[in-house]
Amino acid sequence: MIDQETRRACRAAPKTAQARLEREQAKHMYYGLTNALCPTCLQLVRAQILIRDEKVIMRKYCPEHGHSEVLVSSDVDWFTKSINSIKPGERPLSFGTAVNRGCPYDCGLCPDHQQHTCVAQIEVTNYCNLDCPICYAENRATWFLDIERYKFMLREAVKREGVLNQLNLTGGEPTLHPQIVEMVKIARKNRVSMVLINTNGLRLAEDDDFVRQLADARAAIYLSFDGFDPEVYKTIRGEDLLGKKLQALEKLEKYNVPVVLVPAIYKGLNDHEIGPMIKLLTESKNIVTIQLQPLFYVGSCEEEELNPLEKLTLTETIDLVEKGTDGAIKKSDFMYVPCHHPMCGTVCYLLLDEKNNAVPLTRFVDPNLYLDYIKNRPWVDRQELFNLTRGAVEKIASAAAIPDMAGGTVEENIEQIIGLVSDCCATNNTRKFRNRIKQISIHAFMDKYCWDQQRAQKCCVHVILPTGRMISFCNYNNLHRYAGSAITYDNQIGINRMKIRSRQRTNT
Ligand code: SF4
Ligand code: SF4
Ligand code: SF4
Repeated sequence: MIDQETRRACRAAPKTAQARLEREQAKHMYYGLTNALCPTCLQLVRAQILIRDEKVIMRKYCPEHGHSEVLVSSDVDWFTKSINSIKPGERPLSFGTAVNRGCPYDCGLCPDHQQHTCVAQIEVTNYCNLDCPICYAENRATWFLDIERYKFMLREAVKREGVLNQLNLTGGEPTLHPQIVEMVKIARKNRVSMVLINTNGLRLAEDDDFVRQLADARAAIYLSFDGFDPEVYKTIRGEDLLGKKLQALEKLEKYNVPVVLVPAIYKGLNDHEIGPMIKLLTESKNIVTIQLQPLFYVGSCEEEELNPLEKLTLTETIDLVEKGTDGAIKKSDFMYVPCHHPMCGTVCYLLLDEKNNAVPLTRFVDPNLYLDYIKNRPWVDRQELFNLTRGAVEKIASAAAIPDMAGGTVEENIEQIIGLVSDCCATNNTRKFRNRIKQISIHAFMDKYCWDQQRAQKCCVHVILPTGRMISFCNYNNLHRYAGSAITYDNQIGINRMKIRSRQRTNT
């Protein structure tokens, strides 16, 4: 029964359609819930995923520090479709820790983790020959990893994976380690398919013989390269490094060492250089991938003044690729990568025709085939990609039609590529084909602003600690770095950054 008060309220309510329209709309649409970090104290807090002004926002609430928000995606459509593309991950063969306190405190990997290791990382030193203002590693110049400990760490990782797809030797600056070449050789002999050295390139620029040794050891190089403007290097690396970077690239080409070019993309600083960097990729013989990394605020740049609602996101970076290539590469040419969480990264494969024109593979291979192909691996298996493309090309040829393309020039490119692939098929010349595949990947690492437990649990990039424990790279950077484990080989990751933060707060 309706009481008197409700009756009065109903009579007083606006009755016209106009009045109903004028009723205030909610400021945002609720999309989902996750766990995140308070950017002030790093405590685990609940977070809502909201859609507002055609953007995806994460809104958190910390009982101590109140509300905070961060931009998660500049493109609602991409975000929702990519979330729907999530596929079940592959589990590792065994786990390093038990579920005890819950994610993210049980890293090891624990049985709650949703993906095996696609990329393993080992820090071999915390010495570096640079002091970059954006460094996430906070180097302290105190240790080099002992080779016996390195072998143990490798054994532990291989035990959990069977075969490690990819190992990145990192630091600090790993080329300063006196046994770095030996480390590469050991990994190659012990069930590691691909070994990359994450480097600033300074030693490579100066030491021809060292590059030759790396080539002999079958290492690949993951080279930080932030564009062609000396001022950019001064701002984000502390000095003008352009000459050194180009010298390093020259030497790597001389010895045909595969290179992954890794630009940190700093909004408003070097984001206009993406086009020229992609040109460098397509024109180079030995640069196989460019991995664009939107700047993440960890380590030295953690306290930099930032409006988290203007942070560069994965989707904006894709837009920058489209803009930087004058539309030759489109947003639709990028694939969700189901290997990790789709908001962690995306990839676009390019095929080069005989004139080095790059055509995205999505123009003639069904993207859904890709999803299975890259489901659980980070690196291009060119043989498999060749088979995939051959199938697609055969289909096109038998249908006697080229699929719907954006313009004439693309069609011409496709025709040339069909010729190239057919030629390779006829002669079974997969090497020729392999050399003409290039990859643009975007990897958006997490900082304290955008850390999301759902992404962490599906992480496939894992840091191997000297104890053999393996931790998601983003968890390591945001929560566990300077746990003491890398330096003392401590069995516990007890002294994590959250505790350090709490101690600092208590002391002040
Ligand atoms: S990130 Fe993975 S391994 Fe770490 S605590 Fe969470 S579920 Fe476990
Ligand atoms: S970003 Fe790399 S090169 Fe720069 S200081 Fe850090 S470890 Fe050294
Ligand atoms: S390292 Fe970070 S960004 Fe990369 S897959 Fe793991 S959680 Fe995602």
